[in-house]
Amino acid sequence: MTLRLRDDAEGIAQAASLLCNGQLVAFATETVYGLGADARNAQAVAAIYTAKGRPRFNPLICHFADGAEAFAHVTPDERAAALAAVFWPGPLTLVLPRRADSTIATLAGAGLPTVAVRVPAHETARALLRAAGVPIAAPSANGSGRLSPTTASHVLADLEGRIAAVIDSGAARVGLESTILDLSGARPRMLRPGGIAIEELIAVIGDIEIIGADEAVIAPGMMVSHYAPRQTVRLDARAPTSSEAWLGFGPDGVTGALMINLSEAGDLTEAAASLFDALHALEARATAQGLTGIAVAPIPCHGLGVAINDRLARAAAPR
Ligand code: AMP
Ligand code: MG
Repeated sequence: MTLRLRDDAEGIAQAASLLCNGQLVAFATETVYGLGADARNAQAVAAIYTAKGRPRFNPLICHFADGAEAFAHVTPDERAAALAAVFWPGPLTLVLPRRADSTIATLAGAGLPTVAVRVPAHETARALLRAAGVPIAAPSANGSGRLSPTTASHVLADLEGRIAAVIDSGAARVGLESTILDLSGARPRMLRPGGIAIEELIAVIGDIEIIGADEAVIAPGMMVSHYAPRQTVRLDARAPTSSEAWLGFGPDGVTGALMINLSEAGDLTEAAASLFDALHALEARATAQGLTGIAVAPIPCHGLGVAINDRLARAAAPR
């Protein structure tokens, strides 16, 4: 049962408390309805992918109550500061280098060294962010491959029974998604056109490279080099060889300093929540020990296992 909450002080307080307890809440932004989770809670972030039925761990946009909170998690340069001053709160997402001390779950950024941050303008989103007091990771609140939702009824049509609540704020005003600008490299790149036109951005920071829409959608998921550990990755393994570290799943009985089990209980949400941290940790340990490979236990290919296997297949792909 998904609660349909009123857009008033009581509804927002209830939504905030659900979020702080690791539950999923859909809420209106000025672009589309977002499906929110506490961005610091890896299990809650994993639940977003389950609820949406996403076959891949696309990185999610993290929402903040104001620019100062956003910039506590990423390193803004002059361009980011200038754009934030003009367009925040508003439908502009900035991709910036993640700060080492950021508490955002690595799963929210799909293991990337960057975080996509935004300060939404919609009063409900702002009130919810203030009430919850946590950063909120939120993709659009629709099932994977379905249209972006601009009303609470659209949200419920896709996600009824899969999320704790939706705050009903009527129709979203823009109905376009946020413009995504990648400022992590020397030249700004527009990854997705959206609610703020590129001309408006160029007026503030000058030259911007435009990535094709198709490319923009697949780009982060395709950035194999960002994702792959240095070692060779061997999938569906029974046990590690003497030159391999081990990424286990389920009660496999393999133990040791170079072994990490994603979920001894065989829980796919738990496994998803720790996947990127586990890969980074194994890479570091294997490198320190001079191991050349990481062997990975079989992981069931249903539910979140589809996204986990997609990610692991990319890590194992020849480079
Ligand atoms: P949605 O969640 O449906 O609004 O889509 C979010 C978009 O933001 C996706 O196209 C992601 O690929 C993009 N995105 C989020 N985080 C990052 C990041 N760190 N780097 C590049 N793109 C990102
Ligand atoms: Mg979407």
